[in-house]
Amino acid sequence: MFRFGETCAAIAARPGKLEKIALLAEYFRSLDNANLSAAARFFTGNPFAARDDRSLGIGWRTIVAAAQNAWGVKEAELGANYREHGDLGAALGPFVRPAVDLALFSETLTPAALYALFEEIANAHGKAAGKKREAICERILRACTDATEATYVIKIMTGDLRIGLREGLVADAVAAAFERDAHDVRRAVMAAGDIGAVAIAARDGRLGDLQIAYGSPIGFMLATPVLYGSDYKDLRTGTWLAEEKFDGIRAQAHKTGERVRLFSRTLNDVTQSYPEVAAALEAIPGNFMLDGELVAMRGENVLPFRYLQARLQRKTVEAELLQEVPVSYVVFDMLASGEDFLIDEPLVERRERLAETIMPREHLEIAPFTRVSETPAPEELHELFAAARGRGHEGLMLKRSDSPYHPGRRGKWWLKLKRELSTLDVVVVAVEWGQGKRAKVLSDYTFAVRANDGELQTIGKAYSGLTDAEIAELTTWFLAHQRGKRGHAIAVEPAIVLEVAFDIIQPSSLHESGFALRFPRIVRLRGDKPPAEIDTLARVEEIYREMLSRESGQGAPSALSKRAPEGDGAPR
Ligand code: AMP
Repeated sequence: MFRFGETCAAIAARPGKLEKIALLAEYFRSLDNANLSAAARFFTGNPFAARDDRSLGIGWRTIVAAAQNAWGVKEAELGANYREHGDLGAALGPFVRPAVDLALFSETLTPAALYALFEEIANAHGKAAGKKREAICERILRACTDATEATYVIKIMTGDLRIGLREGLVADAVAAAFERDAHDVRRAVMAAGDIGAVAIAARDGRLGDLQIAYGSPIGFMLATPVLYGSDYKDLRTGTWLAEEKFDGIRAQAHKTGERVRLFSRTLNDVTQSYPEVAAALEAIPGNFMLDGELVAMRGENVLPFRYLQARLQRKTVEAELLQEVPVSYVVFDMLASGEDFLIDEPLVERRERLAETIMPREHLEIAPFTRVSETPAPEELHELFAAARGRGHEGLMLKRSDSPYHPGRRGKWWLKLKRELSTLDVVVVAVEWGQGKRAKVLSDYTFAVRANDGELQTIGKAYSGLTDAEIAELTTWFLAHQRGKRGHAIAVEPAIVLEVAFDIIQPSSLHESGFALRFPRIVRLRGDKPPAEIDTLARVEEIYREMLSRESGQGAPSALSKRAPEGDGAPR
């Protein structure tokens, strides 16, 4: 690991991507297969491959204890070092006391040897597992020969390499090392979920033989917002499909053999929270990877998002909740089918494969879509939008029919058309200091509407929407117009009127008005409006009632079953 550490330090010192790739490629070329696969995984900042469920299961305390035993590190010195670096590897590494200095037998820590020790740590089970992990950790530290090596070994253990390499660049270095196409290598990494195996396959010219790693999630493709009523110029290129924008939870489904797993947008396994969806997918033959949205649905009616909240993060879902908030998985994309990794295929083809593979059933639907005319008139989009809203959905997704699936990217291939439920004019009654780069300005505003007796009642808090210049100017104003404390916040003279947009109004005991807004954002400052003319609680109640009647009025019948998709969901 000595050369691994040196390579890390050299890469960290070079700002340029190309230089980093060249250094890494040279190092990769010098390794045999066992060391190559281990080192390639380590360079992504993880001890194990992405598709590997195992983790080391050791925290800082174990590492620090091992360093104290192996090197006699003093707590106070470590504290000072940590404050300076903010990183355990950099803080501990310099304390290394190589075994030769201690006149002890030392083992040589190659990437392959370190990987084997990591496996021992991860596989430790039972009562004495903690002790065993600590002992192996200590053995690893004792085998380190210098500060750089120790620093980077610890960084891998804490999962925090910090040398400016993302997995994509490591893949590029594998490609450069073995003269393969970078795009092919990146794809292979995504499909196989193991950059170590890909590195060996790249060296051997067997990239095409790698198997798809079902069970290892890939990043989600994201959409760029377009403003309702804008000129929709992005839609003048190519042909587009329109889908409803479901108000639920994004999920990627993997099925292989009997095993189904659902992954959230943060790539966590959430299968246990949606057993009825897992069962529905299990009944479908074949191996596949899908993208879609988990939506609360009773019969044919789409339920508003707040119903789903009851299901979030449940480890076990009782029968009662399953009945109360039934969930359907609405699938809109297919990323893999059998041995075919489909993300480079155009959307229309992925849709066709989807329609061929997935038969809709209870708790499992295919998202319907319509083709939009070429260079569509705004009215056409607005009609589709209104129809989607009428069926209880959030808005419209527009996707280019030839769009590849770009994992983890937000681009112009997919657009989302949303419009807020409404806006309210409110007055700021309390302010707080912001966080991060806003720590020195008052950027968090609690705002109120006017109750029926004229009193101001809070309804929400907003952080975003104003420019830095506006926030700076308001900070000065608020500091000059304080009215004492209000909890953690500073109460201010109620004079600054804001227009805030939001998606949903919910009853809530958090605020004095008895309501809360979902996703409030500041649209603009209303210097033209005196606080006496802000919106009233009666107006809030009216918007809430309108929202409820829209949701339940027509029972928000789902487009999924009422409106037949074009064919089986396959484009014509
Ligand atoms: P937003 O949360 O406003 O950034 O919108 C993006 C989210 O819309 C995605 O992460 C999905 O969860 C969701 N979504 C709903 N319907 C669709 C759809 N038909 N295609 C893609 N994403 C969708």
